Amino acid sequence: MKYADVIIDISHEKVDRSFQYIIPDRLEGIIGTGDCVNIPFGKGNSMRTGYVTAISDKCDFDESRLKSIVSRCEDINTIEADYVRLAAWIRDTYGSTMIAALKTVLPIKKTVKSLEKKKIVRLLEPDEIRSLYHESIRKKHSAKARLLYELITEEILPYELVTGKLNVSGQTIGSLQKDGVLKTESVSIYRNPVTLEDRSEVRVSLSDEQLKICDHINNNPGRYLIHGITGSGKTEVYLDLIENTIRAGRQCIMLIPEIALTYQTLMRFYKRFGDRVSVINSTLTAGERYDQCQRAKNGDIDVIIGPRSALFVPFKDLGLVIIDEEHENTYISEQNPRYHARDVAEKLCELRNATLVLGSATPSMEAYYLAQQGYYKLFKLTKRLTGGKLPDTVIVDMRKELRDGNKLMLSRLLQDKIRDRLNKKEQTMLFLNRRGYSGFLNCRMCGHVIKCPHCDVSLSRHNDNMLRCHYCGYETPEIKTCPECGSGHIRALRVGTQQVEECLGKLFPDARILRMDADTTRQKDSYEKILGAFANGDADILVGTQMIVKGHDFSNVTLVGAILADLSLNESDFKTGERTFQLLVQAIGRAGRGSIPGEAIIQTYKPDHYSIVYASGQDYEAFYKEEIMYRDICSYPPVGNMVHVLVSSDDPRRALGLATALKKRAVDKTSVIGPAPDGVFKINDHYRYGIYIKGKDKKSVEKARFEMEEFLRTAPLKNENVIFDVL
Ligand code: ADP
Ligand code: ZN
Ligand code: ZN
Repeated sequence: MKYADVIIDISHEKVDRSFQYIIPDRLEGIIGTGDCVNIPFGKGNSMRTGYVTAISDKCDFDESRLKSIVSRCEDINTIEADYVRLAAWIRDTYGSTMIAALKTVLPIKKTVKSLEKKKIVRLLEPDEIRSLYHESIRKKHSAKARLLYELITEEILPYELVTGKLNVSGQTIGSLQKDGVLKTESVSIYRNPVTLEDRSEVRVSLSDEQLKICDHINNNPGRYLIHGITGSGKTEVYLDLIENTIRAGRQCIMLIPEIALTYQTLMRFYKRFGDRVSVINSTLTAGERYDQCQRAKNGDIDVIIGPRSALFVPFKDLGLVIIDEEHENTYISEQNPRYHARDVAEKLCELRNATLVLGSATPSMEAYYLAQQGYYKLFKLTKRLTGGKLPDTVIVDMRKELRDGNKLMLSRLLQDKIRDRLNKKEQTMLFLNRRGYSGFLNCRMCGHVIKCPHCDVSLSRHNDNMLRCHYCGYETPEIKTCPECGSGHIRALRVGTQQVEECLGKLFPDARILRMDADTTRQKDSYEKILGAFANGDADILVGTQMIVKGHDFSNVTLVGAILADLSLNESDFKTGERTFQLLVQAIGRAGRGSIPGEAIIQTYKPDHYSIVYASGQDYEAFYKEEIMYRDICSYPPVGNMVHVLVSSDDPRRALGLATALKKRAVDKTSVIGPAPDGVFKINDHYRYGIYIKGKDKKSVEKARFEMEEFLRTAPLKNENVIFDVL
């Protein structure tokens, strides 16, 4: 006898309430997960429809009281059924429970009162605005200038866009209003995050390369990967594909890493699709998100742009899913189930009969591997259409610098180039490709390192004389004497953005320097503020962590320096080569976006490392060839299959005990590595052990994971926690 769990309402709030039904013999093998079924329900046994969320051999209740499923609904291709199937697939692929998977795909039902929206309306002619703009530039009123600049071309601007993305204060708007330059109006609108009435768009005509891609994809549904350097016209291709899909009466989902969703990009979509497009971002409330889903369901919009959760916007007839910057790790969910948006999108497209298009300047190994296998059709865009050339790149061997007596973090070549840019009034970007690597305190007498009391990492010294833990946020005033030996010879070893900033300050006392890292971007909007200021020319040099290499285009940046390219190579997982390559390629691509050609300098202690060498030549193919060879030899993904199992507990023995027990459940044909202390052994007073399951065959790795999950269902756990990560 088989039994089915059935939920009556498909909504985020009701998924915990499933009811078990008997599957009658005549329906056994016919009914599957996601199917819509007719069932007797409630006291009066009135007929209802429900969705099957799971099928099992076990009856969890008194069998004599269970009712039977009456029939399977014929119309099973509803959106709801597809979402239940998608949830089931997510659960099977990534672990976790059906409830957690359903909660991932179903929006939270929250409604909000209709809102009043303010907008800014231009009152002067564009020419008058333009001369005001030049005047404010001369007077260095940069906020005013930013707003006026937009008003040259836009007659109406959403108020919150001006105060948000453009970072113009209410005071500035007020003073322009007093001068009769603009007025503000309130309108009651449907809660669309941004509205724009003006749709004057200057259309480009597609290049031959672009046309070929659009023609093919528009006429052949399928799975595609577009490999095109930044500025090669990928977004223009997306716009065309979306337009074509809408013309056919179908809808589109476009995923963008939030950091790359700049004002300019947004405007391109608004101008093309007007109020048929809507945006989801992290500043939306749950109610606003729910609204977007309702609008999609009602057919009020055709395109949604957003982060990975935008995949679950329930369009009636989804025709196209685009994932831009497909390699970004923001597409991996940090919560259980830890799904990858690329794979979920693929499953979604299969269920809904839609086309999938991935795009990237540095495709992930996974996507490129699948393209090589013919699973995705690969297209390339090879030219920058605005004429800008890729920068010339030089690798500087920092070992030689040291041998020659230069102990600074900036090589002599980089110093010379910065000086040259300062003279020419051009801008420089310097980046450290690892977060939070500022100095840790170490005793020169006994070697003791000051660590976080809750985590197994050293505390970092910050310029406000505080020591901080970057894992748990613990902070304490700086320590002057060694707690071990009492010596006062305690010093910070420093390789961080603050140190780069200090070093620059000494070398170039007149240079205007901005710094962007976890410390300077803690406040809301500070990210936009720093980038905005740099774009306005308020600084000569921008120093930052990898967060500066994405998003905005700065046309006056002609020099990019990677201070220590090895930092991201020292991390301990098999993707470090890939990550380093991607970061460096992106960083180098920041230089020379405008009319003046750019240069890039990569400083490193490993000048021969293939990631660094190929990144400097922007040679993706060569990098891929070498990297895939290593992955193949070691059976790492994407050639092999691998699952990371993280076991943690406040008691290290219990964590190790459970990890060992889990390892025993992994079956033949897979190799199991570990258990071993995982990365940082102790975080937030929890001890962590990791196991890796590895195998050439996907099914056997999956089976090993199922076995472990099965074991966990009945294991006597105290407060151990287990996370599965399908790599
Ligand atoms: P990507 O998304 O690959 O970075 P974009 O689509 O943003 O590239 O294009 C980069 C720049 O080139 C944009 O300013 C865009 O307007 C311009 N562009 C794109 N396609 C064309 C074209 N066919 N003709 C002229 N300019 C183009
Ligand atoms: Zn000491
Ligand atoms: Zn800590």
